[in-house]
Amino acid sequence: MPRIAITSCKRLSEYESALKHAGGTPILITPDMAPGVLQMCDGLLLTGGGDVSPALYGEAAHPTFHPAEPKRDELELALAKAATEGDMPMLAICRGIQVLNVARGGTLIQDVPSERPDAVRHEVDVPPFAIAHTVTVIRGTQLERMLGARALGPVPVNSRHHQAIKALGRSLIVSAVAPDGIIEAVEDPSRRFIVGVQWHPESFWKTGEFACLFQALVTAATPAQHRPQGASNSLGQP
Ligand code: MN
Repeated sequence: MPRIAITSCKRLSEYESALKHAGGTPILITPDMAPGVLQMCDGLLLTGGGDVSPALYGEAAHPTFHPAEPKRDELELALAKAATEGDMPMLAICRGIQVLNVARGGTLIQDVPSERPDAVRHEVDVPPFAIAHTVTVIRGTQLERMLGARALGPVPVNSRHHQAIKALGRSLIVSAVAPDGIIEAVEDPSRRFIVGVQWHPESFWKTGEFACLFQALVTAATPAQHRPQGASNSLGQP
């Protein structure tokens, strides 16, 4: 089973459960570790959490700034860059998509409710799998291929974020947007599997609505020679 580095956060067990259901082995990465620990892993899962320091994209902090745990910014930015350079499969969730974007030189909307007053509600906290809004999936993207026929219509998602991507980082394309235009998913078409989502697919680990995202990460992280015969056949590629 491929080893997936997973950055520590508050609701860690949901991410671990989603990953295990998809056949991955979670390797916990804590903020005191060096980014070189990634060399022992086959894939990377960036998790949710507090806000990326706006100094890292050249802005002063908005009054609502709520920092993540110490050292998480530095470590996760380094992990995102290392995964890009090594073409390591990466799924970046919520804070993770924001880290991915800042690592590529992008910027963030620091507070959606005050900076985009016409936006839909993006902070619906309880229960964690409560549907908050839909997303429109962009045609021809990896996200569309993962979601299959469901991507043809609006896809209901949960939403627990007050920040979002503003200026898109290098080599990223938008793969889903909310009805208000807020970016809800990105990917890097120049890499095998670098995908970010602004919602929380792991909150659905019991019911499986977004299991396809974790399965795609695990499949991409499995060396071709180690993939079960059936799995490689069903993908139609070696
Ligand atoms: Mn949202």
